[in-house]
Amino acid sequence: MYGRATPEANSARRLGPSAAPGGTIRGSRLGEDRRVKVAALAGGVGAGKFLRGLVQVVPGEDVTAIVNTGDDIAVHELHVAPDVDSVTYWLAGVADRDRGWGREGETFRATEELRVMEAEGAWFGLGDLDLATHLFRTTRLAAGEPLSVATDDLRRRFGVAARILPMSDDPVTTRVDAVDDNGAMLDLHFQEYWVLRGARDEVKAVRYMGAERAAPAPGVLDAIEGADAILICPSNPVASIGPILAVPGIRDAVVARRSRVAGVSPIVGGAPLRGMADRLLPAVGVEVSAAGVAGHYAGLLGGWAIDEVDRELAPRIEAMGIRVGVTDTIMSSDEAAGSVARAALDLALAG
Ligand code: GDP
Ligand code: CA
Repeated sequence: MYGRATPEANSARRLGPSAAPGGTIRGSRLGEDRRVKVAALAGGVGAGKFLRGLVQVVPGEDVTAIVNTGDDIAVHELHVAPDVDSVTYWLAGVADRDRGWGREGETFRATEELRVMEAEGAWFGLGDLDLATHLFRTTRLAAGEPLSVATDDLRRRFGVAARILPMSDDPVTTRVDAVDDNGAMLDLHFQEYWVLRGARDEVKAVRYMGAERAAPAPGVLDAIEGADAILICPSNPVASIGPILAVPGIRDAVVARRSRVAGVSPIVGGAPLRGMADRLLPAVGVEVSAAGVAGHYAGLLGGWAIDEVDRELAPRIEAMGIRVGVTDTIMSSDEAAGSVARAALDLALAG
């Protein structure tokens, strides 16, 4: 059930209840066959894979994904929401599994043409199918609809049962203060740092611009307060989870539920599986390890699932007052993601 996990080993705890067919959790403290409601803090690709696993363990309609919008960007006057779209596409089963982001079977003819035109913003590749999503969303926003309503409509049109909420309807932008090769200071949009400049600059600080004036999107705090389990997806702690927690009210709501909060480490064997977390974590003073990230989240974590290769870090994490689960956390298939989701859910429900 738990991959190659050997829960009897040293300090790693045994992962408890298991899910019955049909998605109910049996044998947990919640009582037989009670359905559990889950709220999950989510970034993009790591979250998308994880949530695809989670909806095998609990019915999709009992899952609320609270998704980062800090790396949203206006491209060709279109509102692009990369993490919301990744989560939607993964849950809908239309994500490109190899590329990670965007849609399966995608073409990039419009972007290629825009590059020929040397259009501003053409550095940000938008697929032709993906463009339909951005056109749809931008039109709805221009008509005065909040992002959360447009997002909900989109996920229904994609046949996704899980609720997908942007963290906020208000603009929050992740900015990266960096220094280039020549020592010049740069103030970059997260996507300029990552996509345009390929993460080549030395990161000095990360800011969530606008967060202090943002309000959680309708339903976000209720989902956290009403959940039986709150999960932190294996997403980038600085670029994806950080902005969500920076929206006033969200961190406090999670902290208040701490015993029922569990996360999955996005860092395996001292490195991210993909992305630039190894560049961003040091900039916020966090060690690039499963224990470092656990420490970064310490005030809000009840449980933390780490990979087997990091087993020796378990005592360090437990010393922070966090329950540790050791399992294979590599989500190479939906089945593997299901095991990871079950491990995280069990850790949360054990609180
Ligand atoms: P992004 O917005 O698309 O960059 O996505 P996220 O913030 O959700 O995810 C990036 C993080 O997900 C990286 O730190 C990866 O290490 C992590 N990640 C991706 N795939 C996996 C996986 O299979 N297992 C685990 N444990 N982490 C993963
Ligand atoms: Ca992202």
